Amino acid sequence: MVKPSQNSDQAVRVVFGAARRISIAAEARRLGVSKALVLSTPQQSGAALEIAELLGSLAVGVFCKAEMHTPVHVTEDAMTHVAETQADCLIAIGGGSTTGLGKAIAFRTNLPQIVIPTTYAGSECTPILGQTENGVKTTLSDPSILPEVILYDSELVMSLPVPMTVTSALNAMAHAAEALYGTNRTGGTTAMAIQGLEAFIEGLPKVLTTPSDLDAREATQRGAWACGTVLGQVGMALHHKLCHTLGGSFNLPHAETHAIVLPHAIAYNARAAARELQPICDLLGGDNAGTALHDFAKQMKAPTALRDLGLQESDLDRATDLATTKPYPNPQPVTRVDIRALLQAAWAGDAPIQ
Ligand code: NAD
Repeated sequence: MVKPSQNSDQAVRVVFGAARRISIAAEARRLGVSKALVLSTPQQSGAALEIAELLGSLAVGVFCKAEMHTPVHVTEDAMTHVAETQADCLIAIGGGSTTGLGKAIAFRTNLPQIVIPTTYAGSECTPILGQTENGVKTTLSDPSILPEVILYDSELVMSLPVPMTVTSALNAMAHAAEALYGTNRTGGTTAMAIQGLEAFIEGLPKVLTTPSDLDAREATQRGAWACGTVLGQVGMALHHKLCHTLGGSFNLPHAETHAIVLPHAIAYNARAAARELQPICDLLGGDNAGTALHDFAKQMKAPTALRDLGLQESDLDRATDLATTKPYPNPQPVTRVDIRALLQAAWAGDAPIQ
């Protein structure tokens, strides 16, 4: 089994365990910092205040305005707090939105980051930053963006509501699924992607039956780490392009959009990459990876229709244009007519087109 390295090339320290947040002050001291700014969304301000309390005199402030898709105006507001408090470290507690804010500040300041993830999105494992300005989402990659420390505390992901547990898990699985056919994949990334998929396929039903099962929660967090790591190492394709378009230009919620689009995008690419996607059939059964994921998502009671997220049928033409204008590597050739059909099926909640 591939294990997180605490001495990897990029020197990311990865720690797992129930209640590990209690060691946050020791983690800050280990980094040699003494003025931590704690970040969260408004909804998780209580968790951020707990971290500040655990840090005691090592905390200089709490900024609880993180938002989905990392709007630049929020980052600029946070930068004022960084300057006022003379923070020397960022501690992000939350999902990908809060991690994104920490990364955006780190990119501008090179401050070290400790991330305490509370979803399975996997942003903490990548040197990638997506930001939104004037309704346009852009992505960049830089070594300063990769966090220095990740603390996976299973008690924190336990509070994730069941519907979000399901969609966030499918979001993580999407990274691993596309890593199976990504152009720069290696034997190591494929092994890690399969490990991540397996962790969720085995662990998610257990977590849904008993949301407070800390061992099962930790197993899914280890899956999130594996899926997030391959997201950072392998180029993503059609699935991520579609979700990026739908999230950035139509403001659809991130995890739910991934959960709905995943079976459709994988069925599309199974036409050209059935062999690469075979591990999904091996884990879930069936002979089409997209259909197998569709059945799994339905069993987990995931949402299945983009129209239920508020997307209008009249938006589908523009979404198709945005997702097909610039070419990108994808196993199955991307054509406007095929992507329009895929989006129609995902919008209506139909089974994926094979
Ligand atoms: P999120 O961070 O937006 O969280 C959604 C909501 O759930 C928020 O209100 C949050 O406060 C709340 N929440 C999170 N954890 C909770 C918990 N344990 N209990 C109760 N409530 C909780 O959602 P997300 O799906 O984790 O992240 C989405 C964002 O992350 C998007 O902007 C996406 O682009 C970004 N992302 C970036 C990367 C990358 O590598 N750059 C990777 C994955 C996701």
